[in-house]
Amino acid sequence: MRSCILSVGTELLFGHTINTNAAYLSKELNLLGFDVLYHFVVGDNDRRLGETLKYALEKCDLVITTGGLGPTEDDITKETIADVFGEELVMHAESFAALEKYAKKRNRKLTENNYKQAMMPQHAVVLDNEAGTAPAFALEKDGKIVISFPGPPREVHYVWEHEAMPFLLSKQEESIVYRMIRTFGIGESLLETELLPLIDVQTDPTIATYAKEGECMIRVASKRKDYDEAKNAVDKVCKDIEEIIGEYIYSFDGEEFCDAIGKALIDRNISISACESCTGGDFAQMLVSVSGISKVFDRDLVTYSERAKREELGVNKETLEKYTAESPEVALEMAKGLRAKTGSELCISSTGVAGPDAYHGLDAGTMYIGIVFGEYEHVHEVKTHRSDRNWNRNFCSLEMFNQIKKAIAYKGKI
Ligand code: AMP
Ligand code: MG
Repeated sequence: MRSCILSVGTELLFGHTINTNAAYLSKELNLLGFDVLYHFVVGDNDRRLGETLKYALEKCDLVITTGGLGPTEDDITKETIADVFGEELVMHAESFAALEKYAKKRNRKLTENNYKQAMMPQHAVVLDNEAGTAPAFALEKDGKIVISFPGPPREVHYVWEHEAMPFLLSKQEESIVYRMIRTFGIGESLLETELLPLIDVQTDPTIATYAKEGECMIRVASKRKDYDEAKNAVDKVCKDIEEIIGEYIYSFDGEEFCDAIGKALIDRNISISACESCTGGDFAQMLVSVSGISKVFDRDLVTYSERAKREELGVNKETLEKYTAESPEVALEMAKGLRAKTGSELCISSTGVAGPDAYHGLDAGTMYIGIVFGEYEHVHEVKTHRSDRNWNRNFCSLEMFNQIKKAIAYKGKI
């Protein structure tokens, strides 16, 4: 289905709010096999919204709007859609009751303009929004569908998952199955070259590669009448891809790197501690996003100064003087010192030059990761050739997960 997203809100045009709703919904729609062809953004202005909506309906079969469903004067999305579709707005009794219930639970009085939120285009399918007060809705006419979401991202997620996605799937005649393979350590162009023999001969399943912050993803998708047929076709292509670039893959189901590795650590009951210099706690931040990680994660020390490296980790003064703090030797001593201190089975460190400037004769983006895991001891050199400090820190943290993956694999535990 040819689809587009029409985001409504002057704050988006001012750049005060980042259009995360469009990114989220695009991703979700693509995964379901809807082709998203346009993103439109308009302010809270009924004339421009009406014009854009008409244009969007000319180009697409499905138009998804977000924003402008609230109770205030500048919320004009519903009225404008009703106008374009030639619909009356009528009171929707269930939505009104839900609104009263919502207010009562919070000990709030409904205001006059709240009632506006319970008015719906007469032929709308109302989509419940338990995450907020403004219900969403879908309207269909002449083979065109409009689905209108509220603005707050939390509400968009709720309505999508519970109401809009099932509604849209019921409109699809075919089954769509997809898997998202995630890789680290291989660039997009090399990845594509490696997979070219596969990509060239495939029409279904389709194979698409995406680059994302130092990582690459491959989406394998199949659209068939029969669900099992689609699933088998996708699984077969995933196996073929694994044969070619298996060493770079960390997930077949779209997980984040930290989730995949965090789960591997938990499943194998491997205790872990980290000490971070150039990544300054970014690694730990990713690790603690993994639910259940407390079972194996002992501590993370941000040992930024030479003094901290000496005092907290027992790094030798001579090593620091001879090689500098941004060296493979110090990275390894940090990891070993941390093991001596914590007794964690796997200890990992980061040190180096995040940038933007070169330091101690090293280019920005030259960083070292030390890792000890039983008899496995290793220092990995990261060279990003970039001066973007945040990008480098993020990349180095991801590389730390990659080094853990390799260490576990080395011990035959993955
Ligand atoms: P609205 O329903 O238009 O009143 O929007 C309510 C709030 O949701 C706004 O103040 C924004 O903070 C947020 N919001 C609206 N549109 C978007 C969007 N496209 N992406 C992310 N947040 C949004
Ligand atoms: Mg708004």
